[in-house]
Amino acid sequence: MTVLDRFRLDGETAVVTGGNRGIGRAIADGFAEVGANVVVANRDGESGRTAAEAIAAETGAETLAVETDVTDTDDVAAMVEATVDEFGDVDHLVNNAGIVHHSAVEDKSVSEWAETVDVNLTGAYRCAKYAGEVMKAGDGGTITNVSSMSAFVANYPQHQVDYQASKAGLEGFKTQLASEWAEHGIRVNNINPGYVITDNIVHDEETLETWRSEMLVEEFAAPEDIAPLAVYLASEAAWYVTGESVVIDGGYTVR
Ligand code: NDP
Repeated sequence: MTVLDRFRLDGETAVVTGGNRGIGRAIADGFAEVGANVVVANRDGESGRTAAEAIAAETGAETLAVETDVTDTDDVAAMVEATVDEFGDVDHLVNNAGIVHHSAVEDKSVSEWAETVDVNLTGAYRCAKYAGEVMKAGDGGTITNVSSMSAFVANYPQHQVDYQASKAGLEGFKTQLASEWAEHGIRVNNINPGYVITDNIVHDEETLETWRSEMLVEEFAAPEDIAPLAVYLASEAAWYVTGESVVIDGGYTVR
């Protein structure tokens, strides 16, 4: 087997939450490109279906869109059931769905805090719980959470304590889940991106310049720059990697 062969996921099934756009879309494309069946699970059904059709057309992969709100436990359970009905298994779960609210603590309502934690952290738990049942009943699998460098450092100048807390929570979640489910052949890892240009982040030039001044490389990442790491962590190439967090941030957290 060649090195590149070890990255292939032929015939395996991957669920990507928030796979319709941004980083999740690039990860969904990446999984499809290396041979996986891909399930796009996000809130907005129309853009999910459009993405799933485009991914299939571009790569020849089998795809499925399932309208899913990761804050709704019934939705998540139904999404996993639909995946098994279509493809017979769930081999890989990428917990990518995430939101950010930019507001100072003084202005942030408790419900805003709760929403961020519900999507970013509890949403990952819901998906892992139901997808994990299928993995445990079968031959294991992988769970990859799209955390953030924000799990480890403060971001400046934006205000987002709920986001930081949710991403830091994903670190403990990953470590403990990797330990508890190792016996089922399930590897659990986190990806911790720095600034990636998507709808999620601030785009004004002054803020971008502040961020750029903290980085070792001069440009921001595109979603496509995160996808190869997600493919790697799911693949047999990473069979010895579990319970880890991989920072991919252009050197932002080095300084
Ligand atoms: P985008 O804002 O571009 O996309 C967010 C995605 O999350 C959409 O697909 C959206 O689906 C989905 N989503 C949001 N809420 C829910 C929900 N309740 N249920 C299901 N799906 C939901 O974000 P990015 O691509 O930038 O970010 C993706 C992940 O990467 C997030 O977890 C984010 O925190 C993380 N990240 C991003 C960084 C960046 O610089 N961009 C840096 C570090 C981490 P829909 O369109 O249906 O609403």
